[in-house]
Amino acid sequence: MKQRIALLGSTGSIGQQTLDIVRAYSESFEITTLTANRNWEALAAQAREFEPDSVVLADKTHYPDLKAALADLPVKVYAGEEALCQVVKGGNVDTVVNALVGYAGLAPTVASLEAGRKLALANKESLVVAGELVMGLATRHKAPILPVDSEHSAIFQCLVGEVSPIRKILLTASGGPFRQTPKEALEKVTVKQALSHPNWEMGAKITIDSATLLNKGFEVIEARWLFGVRPEQIEVVVHPQSIIHSMVEFDDGAIKAQLGTPDMHLPIQYALTFPQRWNSTQEPFSFARCTGFTFEQPDRERFPALQLAFDALARGGNSCCTLNAANEKAVAAFLDRQIGFTEIPRIIETTLAKATFIAKPTLEDYQASDAEAREISQRLIRKS
Ligand code: NDP
Repeated sequence: MKQRIALLGSTGSIGQQTLDIVRAYSESFEITTLTANRNWEALAAQAREFEPDSVVLADKTHYPDLKAALADLPVKVYAGEEALCQVVKGGNVDTVVNALVGYAGLAPTVASLEAGRKLALANKESLVVAGELVMGLATRHKAPILPVDSEHSAIFQCLVGEVSPIRKILLTASGGPFRQTPKEALEKVTVKQALSHPNWEMGAKITIDSATLLNKGFEVIEARWLFGVRPEQIEVVVHPQSIIHSMVEFDDGAIKAQLGTPDMHLPIQYALTFPQRWNSTQEPFSFARCTGFTFEQPDRERFPALQLAFDALARGGNSCCTLNAANEKAVAAFLDRQIGFTEIPRIIETTLAKATFIAKPTLEDYQASDAEAREISQRLIRKS
C-alpha cells in the first residue's frame, strides 16, 4: 500500500523538495493534500500533477481563483487556517509533512498529533513555541514525530540502535553569511546579503534566521524537546562546511556524527522512509574533493540572538513563544526594509522584557502570548 501524505506548505522550499521525492517514488507515495498560503497558481499546478483529494489555501483571498483553476478536477478546494487542521485529520492520511513556516504551523501540528498521524516535522516553530505541549501530545496519542530539520535528523540517525542516554548534543552551525563580518559592519548589511546563505537554499524567513543565528537558537530549543535533554547538554559548534550535520556524544566519550552533502532531500526522505534507507539521486559526498573540516565557537556578542534563545529556554513558560513572535515580526520588517539587520535582536530582547510571562501556558495562552508579542514588536518597529 502507498504511504498517503498530507503535505502542508507544498509550494515552499521543503514542500517542493518533498514533492521531488514523491515524484521519484510515485509507486510508494501518494499525495492526498497540498496546501499553500497565497501562491494559488503554484498550488494549482501541483494539484494537476499530483491529483490530491484536497487542496487548501490558508489565506482566503485567492480561493475563487484556485477553485476556478481546478474546476475540471475531482479535487476538494478549501480555504482558511481551520481547513489546514481539518485535512490532516482526514481518514485518508498516514503521514503529515508539516513544511509550513512560522507560528502558523503550530495548530496543524497539534491537530495532526491529536489524530495520531505520523508527523514529519520541518516546522521547527511548533517546537519552539510549544515544545512541551507538542511532545506531550505525541506521547499521549502515540504519534511519532520524525525530524526533518537536517541537524535533528542527524541526531536522530546517530541515535538509531542506541539504548544509552545522550551525554551531549553537538549541534553544528554553518555560521551564516556574516560569520566573518565585523560587528560594526553588521549595522549596514542589506537584505540581499542576508539572503545569500553560503551552503543552503531555503525560504526567506529561515535564511534570515540563519544570518542572525537565531535559527541555531531555535534548533537548540527544538533539540531540547525532541530528544528530552537539558539545555546545558546542547553545545553549538560552528562548522562552516556544513558537511557534519550534527553529533551525539555518549557517556563513554564516543561521538557519533552524520555527514553528507548539504541537501535537504536526504532528511526529508529519511523521515518518510524510516527505518529504511532508500536510494537517492543526490550527489554523494566526496572525501577526495573535500578540502577539510573546521570548527569554531559561535560569537554570541556579534550574534546576540543565539543567547536570547538560550535565555528564553532557561526562563521557560511562554518565553520561547514570545521570542518566536517577536522574531517573525522583526524578520518580516527587515525583509520589508523597515528596520536594519541589528534591530532584529534588539526588538526581540525588548519584546521579551515587556511581554507578560506565563509560567505554565495552555494552547490558548500561547495564542494570546503570540498576539501580545506581535503587538509589542510592531510598536517597536514603528518607533525605530
Ligand atoms: P518557505 O517560505 O519556502 O515555504 C513556506 C510554505 O508555507 C509555503 O508553502 C507557504 O505558502 C506556506 N505558508 C507561509 N505562511 C503561511 C501561513 N501563514 N499559513 C499557511 N501556510 C503558510 O519555507 P521553508 O520551506 O524554507 O521552511 C518551512 C519550514 O521548514 C520552516 O519552519 C523552516 O524553519 C523549516 N526548515 C526549512 C529548511 C529549508 O531548507 N528550507 C531547512 C530546515 C528547516 P506560499 O507559497 O503561498 O507563501
